[in-house]
Amino acid sequence: MKRILGIWKILLAPMCAFMLFSASCENTPPPGNPDAGLYHNYQEVTAELAALQSQFPAIAKVMDLGNSVQGRKIQAIKISDNVGTEEEEPEILFVGGHHAREWIAVDVPLLLAKHLLQNYNTNIAIKKMVDDGEIWIVPMLNPDGHQYSVTNDRLWRKNRRNNNDGTFGVDLNRNYSYHWGGPGSSGSTFSETYRGPVAFSEPETGAIKTLAAAHEFKAMLSYHNFSQLVLFPWGHTNSNSPDHALMLNMARKMADEIRGVHNKNYTPQQSSDLYLASGDATDWLYGETSVPSFTIELRPRSSSPGFILPESEIQSTFEENLPAALYLIEWTQAAAGMTVTM
Ligand SMILES: [Zn+2]
Repeated sequence: MKRILGIWKILLAPMCAFMLFSASCENTPPPGNPDAGLYHNYQEVTAELAALQSQFPAIAKVMDLGNSVQGRKIQAIKISDNVGTEEEEPEILFVGGHHAREWIAVDVPLLLAKHLLQNYNTNIAIKKMVDDGEIWIVPMLNPDGHQYSVTNDRLWRKNRRNNNDGTFGVDLNRNYSYHWGGPGSSGSTFSETYRGPVAFSEPETGAIKTLAAAHEFKAMLSYHNFSQLVLFPWGHTNSNSPDHALMLNMARKMADEIRGVHNKNYTPQQSSDLYLASGDATDWLYGETSVPSFTIELRPRSSSPGFILPESEIQSTFEENLPAALYLIEWTQAAAGMTVTM
């Protein structure tokens, strides 16, 4: 085995020397192949969203939220009846792919969009959800990082910001403003949890900020992997949030829904029980607007295989997460109904 690795090093040496100019030869595997297998890479996500919009023009609209550091599009798909109109309907936000290497966290929200659209005409419950709400899905928030993870370094986490000190990348899920700079984030550009020079320094997190300012989301779900957890604020402190009981209850419900499909256990818990993290998306949206906000850490359960979930599990991971997502959509619509009648 060692001998084989040795040969790889020799073969890679000239390639690495060449790659120094693009500063991208830092890790295995050898760079080059832009194919993510059954997982969707940036180009495929973009093409898939465009195809969904043209297939379902009445209920699907792709929106450009801005450009990434390297100029890739950050896209959302809005799913609703009268999709071109901003209606007074409860809105919900699903976000995937803050972290580059978490490929399943892109495919799950993408498959969710597809499922809602393809079943609209035949499934009464889905039709009602789509008609009565405005469902926003941003499947790939970090396209530069994802692409780099596909072509250069499978375990890349951050975006591809040039920090101008020989390092690259800001951890997008430490770059939101609520308690930005607190525990569980780093001020060092070398760190995997580098929070950026200021809150919302990155166009990727800025896109979510702008989207949230223009809409009244009633809930958010952000996908990551791995560990099989349903997390809710706070992340920046071990204290309970004012809505701890409500969010714990909702997280338990989602975990139950997930378990009911393929008998996989996802543990519902406060985010900080995993580890402290400041400046994440859910603390920010909940902290700013008090709406229930969740992070689901998808499969697998443990560090082997960790981030690199076999592509044979894409479909089953989506299937088990579908009822949890539908539950959250229905919750936003029921909660809105209650507000009206009170
Ligand atoms: Zn993550």
